[in-house]
Amino acid sequence: MAKAIRLVLLGAPGAGKGTQAKLLQERFAAPQISTGDILRKAVADQTQLGKQAADFMNRGVLVPDDVIIDMVGDRLAAEDCKQGFILDGFPRTIPQAESLDKLLTRIGLPLNCVLSVKVPHAEIVDRLSGRRTCKQCGALFHLKFDAPKTAGVCDKCGGALFQRDDDQEATIMKRLEVYETQTAPLASYYAKQGLLREVEGVGQIDEIRGRIYSALGDLVR
Ligand code: AMP
Repeated sequence: MAKAIRLVLLGAPGAGKGTQAKLLQERFAAPQISTGDILRKAVADQTQLGKQAADFMNRGVLVPDDVIIDMVGDRLAAEDCKQGFILDGFPRTIPQAESLDKLLTRIGLPLNCVLSVKVPHAEIVDRLSGRRTCKQCGALFHLKFDAPKTAGVCDKCGGALFQRDDDQEATIMKRLEVYETQTAPLASYYAKQGLLREVEGVGQIDEIRGRIYSALGDLVR
């Protein structure tokens, strides 16, 4: 029987956090909280939050901390997070991490693991520039590694596939630069708290999942 997991997934954009978070979500019956997904939905729905976030996202830079912290605070207050949660794409700055620590201490649900998925930048550019997303159901494909059966059409629902604006090469380079300067320092922040575990994120999805389960060790049993 797995223990409740309160996990942060760290890793550059395109490191495979989203894919692995979905697998962990099933394994631990704990919700995946992807700030990128929440923001993209807000942009598509043209909510106030979406209007605030869209321009930052299209430029490949971070949405301001106060906006993100409020958004995640609301999500973590939901009933389904009491049995654990998997944070994917949050925190991304030291102030976000500090706010998260305060919030989780206040509600008595501190993190029990931070998992860093490591992938070389050259591979990330390759992965992200080939990524295609279904407009209708959000399924992910890759022109090289996981091509749809019919070009431009989702295998799952028949919706049209598109390339996210922030998956264009110039924006990818910007996102990687932002990651190195603002997010990478979180690894030592969490290492100091004794929470950091690292895995290599190159290889087949199942292989990486296996490495993640080994790294989670005591939490999986
Ligand atoms: P992602 O899908 O996680 O790569 O996120 C896509 C975009 O959403 C990022 O490039 C940022 O503009 C924004 N975003 C997502 N999560 C955060 C966060 N924790 N802090 C600030 N901006 C974020």
